[in-house]
Amino acid sequence: MTPASYLKSVLTYCLIASAAGILSLALWTGGLLTSIESAFLSPGHGTLVTPSLQLAAAIILAVSFAVAIDVGRFGGRRALIYLGGGFLGLAALSLFTSWYFAIDILFVPVVLAASVSAVTMQVKRLRERDIELTGKLIAASSKFESRKSDDAEHSLMNGLQLLDTVLSPSEAIVFRRESGGKLIVSARLRTATAGSLDTSRNSAWRDGVSLCERAMRAGDIILEKIEEENLAANIALPLRHEDRTVGALLLRIARKFDDDDRALLTAVGGQMARNLQREETHKANVKRSVLAFFSARESEQRMESLSVLNGALVEQGIGINAMSQLNDGVALGYLDGRIAYANASLAEMAGLEQGQTDNMTFFELLDRFRTDVFDEPAIALRRVLQTGEAYERELNFSDRNATYSLRIVLVQDNSAGVWSLPGRQAQGPPQPLCLALVVRDLTQLKEYEQLRSDMLSLMSHELRTPITSINGFAELLTSDDQLSEQTREFVTIIANESQRLSRMIDTFLAVTKLQRKDRQEVFKIPLRLDVVVTETLAGMQKAARKRRIRLVEVPAQRLPPVAADKGMITQAVKNLVSNAIRYSPERTTVTVSTSLEAEAIRICVEDRGYGIPSEQKEKVWEKFYRVVREGQEKDEESTGLGLSFVREVVEKHGGSVALESEEGRGSKFSFTLPRL
Ligand code: ADP
Repeated sequence: MTPASYLKSVLTYCLIASAAGILSLALWTGGLLTSIESAFLSPGHGTLVTPSLQLAAAIILAVSFAVAIDVGRFGGRRALIYLGGGFLGLAALSLFTSWYFAIDILFVPVVLAASVSAVTMQVKRLRERDIELTGKLIAASSKFESRKSDDAEHSLMNGLQLLDTVLSPSEAIVFRRESGGKLIVSARLRTATAGSLDTSRNSAWRDGVSLCERAMRAGDIILEKIEEENLAANIALPLRHEDRTVGALLLRIARKFDDDDRALLTAVGGQMARNLQREETHKANVKRSVLAFFSARESEQRMESLSVLNGALVEQGIGINAMSQLNDGVALGYLDGRIAYANASLAEMAGLEQGQTDNMTFFELLDRFRTDVFDEPAIALRRVLQTGEAYERELNFSDRNATYSLRIVLVQDNSAGVWSLPGRQAQGPPQPLCLALVVRDLTQLKEYEQLRSDMLSLMSHELRTPITSINGFAELLTSDDQLSEQTREFVTIIANESQRLSRMIDTFLAVTKLQRKDRQEVFKIPLRLDVVVTETLAGMQKAARKRRIRLVEVPAQRLPPVAADKGMITQAVKNLVSNAIRYSPERTTVTVSTSLEAEAIRICVEDRGYGIPSEQKEKVWEKFYRVVREGQEKDEESTGLGLSFVREVVEKHGGSVALESEEGRGSKFSFTLPRL
């Protein structure tokens, strides 16, 4: 307690005690208590001695002050026991002293002052509690109001639009009920073509409003035909939340209204009522007065805040209910291990009937997913709780031919969020709230993946054989002197195109192979990169000569080896060099150099070709990404896979790729691999 608040409470005690004391003293000196007093005095010997006014005032004020402190510190109930006992003792004492010593100990004025002091003090305490409680209630409910309060009309409009998709009303109006009972338009939706219930002078409008009022009184949907000959009707729905009618919804529809529509309308109406309630509570800005404790409006506001909170609970329940619709299995566990919620999918994956999960603990539930890679659920859980990091595993159940991905997460209180607990501000580390288990069925996905990869490799292999024959025979034919000029040209095209196809299939194959190798380690051996470069370039000189490109090798002196998969690295270098040849004009030079850096060896392929626009430099590494260049030759073969393969291979080896390029001047592709 701070000195200021201590002083304040002492002053309050003094004030209450003095007021009670003065009141009692006044009644006593005015002789208004005489008749009651006589009941507690027994006239014994001679006349009674009554204390002087000063002494009486001192006694009464002292008792009054003591009682105020007593009630203030111990509370009404405990103080009542002491006071009751005290009063009884004092009554006996009064009778005794008056009879034996003929002294009046002022029993009645003292008891009166003490009682008034006690009651006033208790009322003061209750009022303080009430203020605190109201403050907390309003603060808690305003958390939900402030989510969308400025958007109340917006959310009502959304609700109307949802109704529009089903009932297509020509006009829909949400009315809010003011405290006086008057209906005020809160949101309105109308189709452009419809003749609208336009002004409040309009009799149709008045009919609509009175229909709403009737519906609100009846507490049910009321339908009223507008014209006898067709289906056009006005429908009024009271908007009720927690037994409070907060407004009404009026619809004009031109089609039949059946029971399904009724259920939907009631549900949407419930949501609108919650929104209206929030808006109303938000707007009600009652000033707290001294008499707030006794104010009915104040109580009303508290009730409204409570309604908003209950509405929020309903909305929170929606989230949980929605989870029952998920295909993924979801379970939430309290931190004491009880299961807060488990959806039907999870029960099914765990091999349980729905409802069986109710009486299980989180541990028992995890146990149902025990496999060889998830053999100690308790250890996994401990790790999640200790580190706060999610635990993820892919589980294979060969007995049921199923693959699941399992994820255990510690859900933490995000204090900045709306759902954080009242009074808990962003302070210190986030508080753990509960555990979540998410199980996803990957069985079908795995089957598709397998099928895709099998088909790809099968297709590629099966395609390669006929293409090799086509290419071989076409090459053979080109050297036949007896062919006419035109036939030779055609045969050359066949040879080139079949080669192109074959290269494309090679890339496809390499990529699928790489994807399959995802789960395996690459096969690393000590490798001299300068040797790899020399060997690769030797095989590419022919292609370079064909395009009149000079292929130059600049090897570094004494390179240490790297640990790498020779096939993959050779293919990566080949991709870079063949790109450099393909994307450079004739009579230019492509330089391939190797160099030693601090902890790595770099291979660099530099050309004087077309270059790559700077905004696409990052993208060229992505799968299937191709740069389209003006004046590009039609037959420039491109799959967009070459560079993505290079990056994947290099990153798998713990290296990195880099690109410098200037459009029209050339490119410098390079990658590093960590040295041994
Ligand atoms: P592809 O195998 O089809 O060539 P890549 O992934 O190897 O696909 O390359 C992606 C794109 O990057 C290509 O379409 C090409 O335009 C561009 N590119 C690659 N290398 C070079 C280079 N050395 N010079 C200019 N452009 C290049």
